[in-house]
Amino acid sequence: MSSSDETGVRLRLRFEGNWVESDKIITIPTGSWRFQRPVTRLDKCCQCGQCYIFCPTGSILEKEDRFAIDLKNCKGCGICARVCPNAAISMIEEPDE
Ligand code: SF4
Ligand code: SF4
Repeated sequence: MSSSDETGVRLRLRFEGNWVESDKIITIPTGSWRFQRPVTRLDKCCQCGQCYIFCPTGSILEKEDRFAIDLKNCKGCGICARVCPNAAISMIEEPDE
């Protein structure tokens, strides 16, 4: 083994040794603790994509003809509403289930 190989192995052991196997990861949908949700007025949306770019949870999906919000992981932070240049997104109180 060459010295660069040994360095690579050492680095992998140091930085990747504690990685969790993917089948042991538990995911919690952040939408489960949301207290407000975004609602889009499509007639005001100009398809600029700012909400898509800035959403921290990747909850805004690019569809063929529009952007759609997937509420599963939306945590109700309101960033999409703040960055929308047309005020097309409003935050409303999360309805009681
Ligand atoms: S409220 Fe926050 S998490 Fe939900 S879609 Fe908007 S930016 Fe994304
Ligand atoms: S930021 Fe506003 S105008 Fe732009 S795509 Fe999103 S909802 Fe539409």
